[in-house]
Amino acid sequence: MKLKLASRNARIQPSATLAITAKANELKAKGIDVVGFGAGEPDFDTPDHIKQAAKTALDKGQTKYTPVGGTKELKETVCAKFRRDYGLDYTPAEILISVGGKHSLFNIFMALVEEGDEVIIPAPYWVSYPEMVAFCGGTPVCVPTKESNGFCMTPAELEAAITPRTKIFILNSPSNPTGGMYSEEHIRALAAVLEKHPDIWIVSDDIYEKLTYDGMRFFSIATISPAWKARTIVCNGMSKAYSMTGWRIGFTAAPKDLTSAMDTIQGQSTSNPTSIAQAASVAGLSGDHSFLTAWVAEFDRRRRYIVERLNRIPGISCFTPKGAFYAFPNISGLLGKKTPSGKTLTDSMGVAAWLIEEHNVAVVPGAPFGAEGFMRLSYATSMEQITKGLDRIETAAKSLK
Ligand code: PLP
Repeated sequence: MKLKLASRNARIQPSATLAITAKANELKAKGIDVVGFGAGEPDFDTPDHIKQAAKTALDKGQTKYTPVGGTKELKETVCAKFRRDYGLDYTPAEILISVGGKHSLFNIFMALVEEGDEVIIPAPYWVSYPEMVAFCGGTPVCVPTKESNGFCMTPAELEAAITPRTKIFILNSPSNPTGGMYSEEHIRALAAVLEKHPDIWIVSDDIYEKLTYDGMRFFSIATISPAWKARTIVCNGMSKAYSMTGWRIGFTAAPKDLTSAMDTIQGQSTSNPTSIAQAASVAGLSGDHSFLTAWVAEFDRRRRYIVERLNRIPGISCFTPKGAFYAFPNISGLLGKKTPSGKTLTDSMGVAAWLIEEHNVAVVPGAPFGAEGFMRLSYATSMEQITKGLDRIETAAKSLK
């Protein structure tokens, strides 16, 4: 039978970050010693007390459906998290637990975005934002930010991007892929622009909230005032701060009516997230967070090393990230150069292909993040791997003519 896919399939591309990880794994399976800088997940194990809570849930028979939007216990624990970390009071009716932050975001766009709606996405952006918006029929308005501004959108850039069709503005701080981060003052300046456009929703993707460096303090736009809480959809999850990527738990905090619409969408698609992962998340969110100090210190050590080394490689310069676990070097100095095998490097895709094929280093090209002339290196991998990978990148860059 001839396959005729629904036209909406043509609006989205496969995830470039998942593709690079798959390629690296394929080479590794063939016995090739590939250094992977592609990972979007911490290399630490999920803390023991969280794993223990999952085992207890299993033993207690918590293996059945839960309410679609999450257990009462987890919703209350998420409310307590927001009270503790953001100083905000949400009720359980304003919380939705989903199958990872990605699912939370998908629910948001499904509930809010339709044909003709524009969504402002500062670039470089996480690969899935424009794809999800387009899938829902909306128009992603990707606005380039400047490296010299720490990859943060200026109030003037935001103002210029707003039209009567703007439905949502996405804020992701700390950011994937740049590690850029907005200060409280900067967020207040953006809020001053948005104040004039009260119909625009803010999606605040705070998934890297806990991973910040150089004394940078995380600040959420939802905390400015009750009016800002009412127009912000906060999205967060267990993947990054608790090293629980495989458990698939994300959550949103949003006004009750919107949460209820997202709950209905979830009820007709996935139903509840895994019962056992929800029980583990209760332990994670309410338990001891001291493990994070060591994790952040280790990420910070790698961050300093990777940035320092990248800045010494000819043709590469690297902004110092303030959060998350990615370095986002500018590689425009490599473009136009010739490899010893006779290829000319013309773009970030070409650089990434050359690095993996000829030097066994997996990086993610900047293009799918909306940033040609850059590449992303995750430092959520061991210092030994980072050193080996940077040695290879350095040798590769020095071989160019
Ligand atoms: N938001 C950002 C900015 C991310 O980088 C990711 C994961 O890479 C997610 C959301 C979703 O993470 P998950 O679906 O694992 O919770």
